[in-house]
Amino acid sequence: MSQSFSITDLFTIGIGPSSSHTVGPMRAARDFAERVLIRPDVGQLICELFGSLALTGHGHATDTAILLGLSGFTPEGTDPDDIASIIAAIRHADSLKLAGKVDISFVESQHLLFRKGEFLPGHANAMRFTAIYGDGSECSETYFSIGGGAIKRENADAPRLNFVLPHPFASGADLLAMGNDTGMTFGAIVEANEAAWRSEAETRAFIDEVRVAMLACIKRGIAKDGILPGGLNVKRRAKCLHERLVERGPRSDPSTVFEWVSLWALAVNEENAAGGRVVTAPTNGAAGVIPAVLKYYEIFTANPTPEGSRLLLTTASAIGFLYKTNASISAAEMGCQGEVGVACSMAAAGLAAALGGSNAQVENAAEIGMEHNLGLTCDPIGGLVQIPCIERNTMGAIKAINAAYLALQGDGSHIVSLDAVIETMRQTGEDMRSKYKETSLGGLAVNVVEC
Ligand code: SF4
Repeated sequence: MSQSFSITDLFTIGIGPSSSHTVGPMRAARDFAERVLIRPDVGQLICELFGSLALTGHGHATDTAILLGLSGFTPEGTDPDDIASIIAAIRHADSLKLAGKVDISFVESQHLLFRKGEFLPGHANAMRFTAIYGDGSECSETYFSIGGGAIKRENADAPRLNFVLPHPFASGADLLAMGNDTGMTFGAIVEANEAAWRSEAETRAFIDEVRVAMLACIKRGIAKDGILPGGLNVKRRAKCLHERLVERGPRSDPSTVFEWVSLWALAVNEENAAGGRVVTAPTNGAAGVIPAVLKYYEIFTANPTPEGSRLLLTTASAIGFLYKTNASISAAEMGCQGEVGVACSMAAAGLAAALGGSNAQVENAAEIGMEHNLGLTCDPIGGLVQIPCIERNTMGAIKAINAAYLALQGDGSHIVSLDAVIETMRQTGEDMRSKYKETSLGGLAVNVVEC
């Protein structure tokens, strides 16, 4: 199977704290609401959450996402600052306006059910919506949140592509061969393929918009302090850390660089944990890695250019496509290797490309970025995207930068191919026990007492 989705599917501008548990459920709920309104006499609506969504949904704001989605809101179009009042109004009235059109009674304790311990075949993140019409007939649909905010409706036909990509690829080997044949970089291959969806100018405008949204998220994260929501009493650190770094001024100590990079990743992931506006890159939990590496490129490298920033993002997306196509970016399937590990691999490749690396070096950087994240579990304390997630993004960003330079110091030849490491990640994810895959039933989640 070759690439069948666009860069706009990989980098989406949404809300925190989770792409698979917040953004995906919101999209699924909205889709269902629109479908059932083919008949306006909906009397009752029940939403059941299964698997990882049931186990960590409260901490990941899945309940809020479902209420918003049923009410017709989108992750892209909802102002994070409005969410609390919208949800309070729904809960106060025990009713919502289905798809923004028809008032229905919705008592959360009766109509939104967390089926803990129950899994549906198909995917660990499953939702079943059932509408009961005035005449007693029912309509039911099951959705899966498959990672990065993408959803799949059970039994729905796969979308058909009515176009042919100029440079279809399904593996790192394809990318390398295509690069050899055409002289194109991975980023240029992605940009050329995007022409199947929209004009070159529109694609460039989208990439620039993603860059601006990433940097704006860093800025917002740095400006805010206080305690993150959810009850763990996690203090936001980015603002204080930023003040200290500014006060200290430029130093020749090399630690300065990774303190700034860590700050930028912290800022994004604190924004995400607070339910703010973030770019899925490729998921919300891992949203800080690529922005921190992008900012590193723009601030700390010798000759950053707008072209280089674009190349960083397009190259990162080429690598993201490979993980989405050949494995998964869902933590419920792969653990954190599928989130922070993939983001690290994408960022490493992007940075290596922006710094002028050859395709072989870029492929090597992506491979190193994943090789040292293999086996990384997902065990968020309290089901919140806070510990270990926020700090883990700082580690992912630093590791990505290291991976890029390791690759750039070589000639691109190496023993483990990117394709081999992606397949290893997939197999490792399959073998990983479910308690380490976004269920909060293992790891830190059970060894740290919540207070
Ligand atoms: S541990 Fe990793 S995969 Fe799990 S929620 Fe946190 S960032 Fe996402």
